[in-house]
Amino acid sequence: MVQKAEKIWFDGKLVNWDDAQVHVLTHTLHYGAGVFEGIRAYCCVDGKSAVFRLKDHVVRLFDSAKIIGIKIPFTIDEIVDAIIETLKVNGLKEGYIRPLVFIGDGVMGVHPGSNPIRVAIATWPWGAYLGEEALEKGIRVKTSSFNRHHVNAMMTKAKACGNYVNSILAKVEAVTDGYDEALMLDTQGFVSEATGENIFIVKDNIIKTTPLTSVLPGITRASLMKVARDLGYEVVEQLFTRDELYIADEAFFCGTAAEVTPIREVDNRIIGEGKCGLVTKKLQKDYFNVVKGGNEKYSGWLDYYEI
Ligand code: PMP
Repeated sequence: MVQKAEKIWFDGKLVNWDDAQVHVLTHTLHYGAGVFEGIRAYCCVDGKSAVFRLKDHVVRLFDSAKIIGIKIPFTIDEIVDAIIETLKVNGLKEGYIRPLVFIGDGVMGVHPGSNPIRVAIATWPWGAYLGEEALEKGIRVKTSSFNRHHVNAMMTKAKACGNYVNSILAKVEAVTDGYDEALMLDTQGFVSEATGENIFIVKDNIIKTTPLTSVLPGITRASLMKVARDLGYEVVEQLFTRDELYIADEAFFCGTAAEVTPIREVDNRIIGEGKCGLVTKKLQKDYFNVVKGGNEKYSGWLDYYEI
């Protein structure tokens, strides 16, 4: 169960958590045309709190809306301020932030007409997405029987609500079959991403991730690419196949929720030594240090706030 906070920001006002309600004829509830973000705030090493790459997430929210054809009735700066306000009013020093843009009720039928565009921002405490043990020991993954979207079916550069039907199908299938997470291939058969994470592999100290052809442009992905390059690693964006993943030395998923989660097994094949690899461990440690304000070099990625 999500742990309730006191308030939710809804269409420009802070309302009580339990009062943030919608009508059953809410257009997005029926047809899935909405967009959202997932953002984390961390308690930093100096005791202050900071949101990681807040503006970048809000810009992606606006990009997602543009792709889906939704005009958000607020500015980027207004949403940024609203997120900080919501964290503060809820006294949340650390946690998860979920802005959601959706089409409200009015007309029915696929064309949303001039139904109102509504915006909500919820915040709540949220620990490790795949569990603390996953961060340490890694997870077991199964290639999904479902493909990630072809760009001309659903555009993956949008973090669109409806895209996640595909993710839910894959995730439920994987978990039902006894795995922790699903690996999704694109419609050509190349490795794409997981249900809510991008993927990296490491072979002979070269770090590889998929290009942005069929995946969400992850902010964690971009952050890790920068941190890894700054550490001197060679990082390439290149399509790869599932068998290249099977014989990688290391593999990991990354995302705001999943952070840096090592993969220890794919399709019942052990990856590397079947535990968190050395490069993965280093990047995971550095990532947590960066998001918690422990590395001055990346302080521009943090928006501090006081409770
Ligand atoms: N792919 C998908 C499908 C996702 O839902 C997410 C989580 N937003 C990611 C990748 C990772 O993106 P980010 O690092 O920006 O959270």
